[in-house]
Amino acid sequence: MEINRRRAIASASASAVALSLQQSALAETAPLKLRYMLPSCMYGYTKISELLPEVNKIGATAIDLWPMVHGNQREQLDEMGEAAFERKLRAAGIELGCLTHYQLGPFGLQSEMRLARRLGCRTIVTGGKGPRDLKGSELKRAVGDFVEQMKPHLEVAEQTGVTIAIENHANNLIQSPDSMKWLMELRPSEHLGIALAPYHLPQEEQLIADLIRTLGNSIAVFYAWQHGMGSVKKLPKEQELLQMPGRGSLNFVPILAALAEIEYRGWTEIFMHPVPRGIPIHDSTARVTAEINRSRLYLQDCLTQVATDSRGAATTRTNSNTGAKQKMSDEQERVLGEYNALNANEAYVILRQGTEPAGPGGYTLTKDPGTYICRQCNARLYRAEDKFESHCGWPSFDDEIDGAVIRRPDADGRRIEIVCSNCKGHLGHVFLGEQMTTKNTRHCVNSISMKFIAKGKDLPAMIVKESE
Ligand SMILES: [Zn+2]
Repeated sequence: MEINRRRAIASASASAVALSLQQSALAETAPLKLRYMLPSCMYGYTKISELLPEVNKIGATAIDLWPMVHGNQREQLDEMGEAAFERKLRAAGIELGCLTHYQLGPFGLQSEMRLARRLGCRTIVTGGKGPRDLKGSELKRAVGDFVEQMKPHLEVAEQTGVTIAIENHANNLIQSPDSMKWLMELRPSEHLGIALAPYHLPQEEQLIADLIRTLGNSIAVFYAWQHGMGSVKKLPKEQELLQMPGRGSLNFVPILAALAEIEYRGWTEIFMHPVPRGIPIHDSTARVTAEINRSRLYLQDCLTQVATDSRGAATTRTNSNTGAKQKMSDEQERVLGEYNALNANEAYVILRQGTEPAGPGGYTLTKDPGTYICRQCNARLYRAEDKFESHCGWPSFDDEIDGAVIRRPDADGRRIEIVCSNCKGHLGHVFLGEQMTTKNTRHCVNSISMKFIAKGKDLPAMIVKESE
């Protein structure tokens, strides 16, 4: 019964995720605001009129139309006619951000560039052309030849105000970091750009981050997309989804830090390929949108960490003289050792993602001033000031102590789990968009995962494991 109620809250909040992301304080804390664009192929062959309302729901302001086989929205545009398409765009309050055209290739885009101009679209994504698997001076020469061949097309790009963004792609001249660097070094016009796909690069965060720093704002489109086996052969959905940010193992923090450093202004697409092509990544439009928003939450967390890290770096610099003292009062003391022993009920919740029964017990109704720490490792998690009465039966907070909590997709595929960032012990879930407080965020935390330390009492040191 109580679990059902909790699930109802969870699904209600899932549909409100887009709203909450627009209204929450996320943009304030992040130095970089990603300009999201919806790639139509994520929804397979879904009708354009059904897709347009999803654009705002994923926090995007633009749509990227894909042709067959990945999507068919480019073909739908031809069917309905430009005027009808424009009316729909205007009614939805969004723009056409991109046309993606691998089939036409970089030398076949002239009429598409003219169409793009008529529709106010400024980006076309395609692949490169030329010999593959080259290295060193051979590669540089081949990229130079490609640039030479692009010149008449770039003239049209300049006339039409379009940027042709070349995606780094497997089995293509433009595949390796070097090929992209030379393409940008040799480009005769800023209307030639890069559509950066981490999926097709070695899955090394620093390499990708360094490449971003080198390419700077010649990047026109950034795919928030990581490598996963499930884009080539049919695998269970859970494995297919490992291409999505926050699902697979690629850490996007250094990558977003690099984008923040270059003050990235291009588009961002949360992206993956399903198998077979042409189907939506989930079986309903609402679920595709929820999946994209799950990744967007993850990226938002990464951005928050980027902001926190840079603030931390600034503080360290500012306080270089008195740094040591400052640290002692701001940071919790740490000790090496084994975590606090857990009884069976605690272990069920903290180690096995269990949920304690809802009710007025535990800390649900506690209002005393103080700090809530992790039961297992003593890490400071929440301040009493951020606790509020949500009437959900569990302690609720609308903010966490900086860096204390990690958010990750729950195993149920819908909710966002929260865990202690030090010991990874399960805390509960975070829900957005419920309009309960101005921060529009509810950390729903099991009492048993925490320990309350009243104001004035000493906080125990955080336990850090030797192996870490
Ligand atoms: Zn902990």
